[in-house]
Formats: sequence, structure tokens, C-alpha cells
Amino acid sequence: AVDGERIRAFIRRFAEKVAAQKDELTALDAAIGDADHGTNMDRGLQAALERLPGEGAAPGDLLKAVAMALISKVGGASGPLYGTAFLRAAAAVAGKATLEPGDVAALFKAALAGIQERGKAGRGEKTMVDALAPAVEALDAALARGASLGEALAEAARAAREGSDATIPLVATKGRASYLGERSRGHRDPGSLSATLMMEAAAETLA
Ligand code: ADP
Ligand code: MG
Ligand code: MG
Repeated sequence: AVDGERIRAFIRRFAEKVAAQKDELTALDAAIGDADHGTNMDRGLQAALERLPGEGAAPGDLLKAVAMALISKVGGASGPLYGTAFLRAAAAVAGKATLEPGDVAALFKAALAGIQERGKAGRGEKTMVDALAPAVEALDAALARGASLGEALAEAARAAREGSDATIPLVATKGRASYLGERSRGHRDPGSLSATLMMEAAAETLA
């Protein structure tokens, strides 16, 4: 089962991946936004690492600390969106010391629902939803056919990556990139890459 220490490892791995790909995330945002997605996410996740509760903390308490850090340290679109995602994820597993595979799926499903309620983006609008929605779907489908959590998360991460790739030809209709209209075509959505890194971090640490 997934305990608090695995959730801590997930949060750390997500932060490490964002730190390592900060310049790439920012370069993607330079093409269709305001060149701050890498610095935004890195600042928020580094603040989250500093504020994580200590050893023995429950999964929900760790996820909530990430939400609070992202909401308070990251402006723009991604702070409130990822902040809401982590807040909803925390609520989905509140009070549990360990998570079963179905709880892990519920956590990511709640995160996606939070992002969509807050940001009103559906699929195909060239946002992080284009990576997360297929990932959540793949995770559910894999668990439903009896795959292990590790296999299911690996499939979810691949689905996220493919969803991010599929944002390249799209025209953005939400967020800053939508101001570019047709000129947003031909570039990967930066939030879809950070969301992919989150799912890859999950696949590497939660099973
Ligand atoms: P900002 O655009 O305010 O500078 P960031 O650059 O940190 O914020 O984040 C941009 C990312 O946020 C986009 O690449 C996109 O994936 C995501 N995003 C923007 N608006 C929305 C929305 N309404 N719903 C979902 N995701 C969104
Ligand atoms: Mg930006
Ligand atoms: Mg900005």
C-alpha cells in the first residue's frame, strides 16, 4: 500500500523533475505565453518541499501542504490550478494512513476534477487537461482490468505524455496562449508537460 513516505517521495520526484526541466518548461511558455511556467512551478514546488510535514505524516496532510505552498507562492494560472488539484487530491484521501490502488486513482481523478472546475477547460483546449484527462482514464481502465498499480501508473504516464504531444497541433482556447489564436499552433502546451512530469513522478514512486 502507498503510505505517507511514498507520497513524500512522489512530491520530491515531481519537484526534482520540474527543477531539472525548468528551462524547457519556461521555453515552451515563452513561445505561447509569458515565459514563466518553469520558474512558477519550480518556485512553488521548492516552497512545498520546505513546508512538508515531518515523518509519519499522512498522505492527505502531505498533499495539502503542497496545495497551500502552490496557492501562496505561484501566481498566474498554474498556481491556483495545481493548488486546487492538490487540495482536492488531499481531500480525496483525507484520514487514510495508507492508500490502496483505488485510492490512488481517486486522488488523481479528484485532482483533475478540481482543475476542470476551476479552469473550465475541456479536452482539446491545449492545456494541462489534455495530459491529465487521458492519464486518469488510463489509470482507471488499467486498474479495472486487474493491472497492478505500478502497471496502471506507467500506462497513465504514457497516456499523459501522448496527450501532451497531441497539444502541439492544437489552437489554444484557454489561458494566456489563447490570446495568440492560430499562432498558438505548432507548440507544446507547457502545462501539459508539467502535468506529464507529475504522472511520471507518480509512476516512478507510488508503486
Ligand atoms: P500563466 O499563464 O498565468 O503565466 P503558467 O505559465 O504558470 O501561468 O501556466 C500556464 C499553463 O496553465 C498553460 O500551459 C496551461 O496548461 C495551463 N492553463 C492555463 N489556463 C488553464 C485553464 N483554464 N484550465 C487548465 N489549464 C490551464
Ligand atoms: Mg506563463
Ligand atoms: Mg505568468
